Amino acid sequence: LLRRRFCTKSAPKVKTRMGKQMGAWQICQYGGNEELTQTTAARAPSIQKPTDLLIEIHAASVNPIDTLMRGGYGKTMLNMLRQGLWNQAGGTEFPLILGRDFSGVVMETGKDVTRYKPGDEVWGAIAAQRQGTHAQYCIVGQSEISHKPKSLSHVEAASLPYVAVTTWTALCQVGGLTQKNAQNQRVLIHGGSGGLGTFAIQLMKAWGAEVTTTCSTDAVGLVQSLGADVVIDYKTQDVQSELQRISGFDVILDPIGGKIPTFSTDLLKSWRNSKYVTLVTPVLSNTDKFGIPLGLFTSATSFGTNIIKGISNGRSYRWALFIPNGNALGQIAKLVDDGKIEPVIDKVFTFDQLPDAFQKVEGKHGRGKTVISIK
Ligand code: NDP
Repeated sequence: LLRRRFCTKSAPKVKTRMGKQMGAWQICQYGGNEELTQTTAARAPSIQKPTDLLIEIHAASVNPIDTLMRGGYGKTMLNMLRQGLWNQAGGTEFPLILGRDFSGVVMETGKDVTRYKPGDEVWGAIAAQRQGTHAQYCIVGQSEISHKPKSLSHVEAASLPYVAVTTWTALCQVGGLTQKNAQNQRVLIHGGSGGLGTFAIQLMKAWGAEVTTTCSTDAVGLVQSLGADVVIDYKTQDVQSELQRISGFDVILDPIGGKIPTFSTDLLKSWRNSKYVTLVTPVLSNTDKFGIPLGLFTSATSFGTNIIKGISNGRSYRWALFIPNGNALGQIAKLVDDGKIEPVIDKVFTFDQLPDAFQKVEGKHGRGKTVISIK
């Protein structure tokens, strides 16, 4: 069922890189894996803003957001944001290239780019409204990237940016943890065996926190090897009662949702500015369902209700989402080169095998990251 065909719908009339073409995987309508189309004739992107760079992509990863966006998740909000990028062209979102992170080499820079020059090896995680990284080239803003860790290959490096930046937003910007204050903080990370969890455990251990995590049986050894102090096997143990028994967390990171939010704020320390941070938010699905104004209003109402339900004894309930952050990537690159964080790669696929990589990520039981080798 995985067909490879050329998109026939007209592309947005963006200025192309001197009319050049590139290899890419793209979709021409939302749907399942059968919509992924490999082409050697996608329009190569070109720099539109003085702070943009053109990147040759060597490797990229596949994240759950890619499989969701393939199905149309977030299209209402993202199309509104795309207007800002593509409005001169008046284009639609199709053909759409998925993929949110990469490791690669700078090919060209806009005139206001000061920190990078052609030939630099960089990594990045880019805004969801941009054309993606499952292609030979992409355009990035200089605030979305940093120099890549010198100690990693491109394939290894590509496994980290999206999950690393999301974790940074959730635990540092929203959760308030820093290298200086994380020492001995009690941090609970749900879903420790996935792409995000394997990074989050390592970041918190690098900063001296005490880490508790949840995962299924076969991943217990993996999360322990990353430094997790307490591991709860959600397949064989009652997660809620186990966590209640050892409760008193400073920060809880929840990328899973389901029942977890219903008992989480009670696990936090009292009167210590403790925080439950969830990455499972209804904003994009609400805007898809109700349109932008009503979707935002419905989300704000649900957020408000959860805050009120969650606030007690100085604890708080917070939402977090991926926001590009080149500065954070610079700090993470240093942690990697210092040997504090290492990539956890489940499987590497060739560029031709990209639909298989999507299928694997859609299985939702990754052990670390799924990476695509492109060059
Ligand atoms: P992965 O697919 O790599 O990992 C998902 C992990 O979740 C698996 O390892 C699985 O482990 C684990 N899991 C599933 N159910 C449970 C459970 N009940 N308890 C504990 N662990 C569980 O995804 P990522 O790590 O990259 O991302 C995780 C989630 O984070 C995404 O699905 C998305 O919802 C969210 N996210 C949100 C972002 C945002 O901007 N809001 C950005 C990035 C991610 P096992 O096999 O052991 O069950």
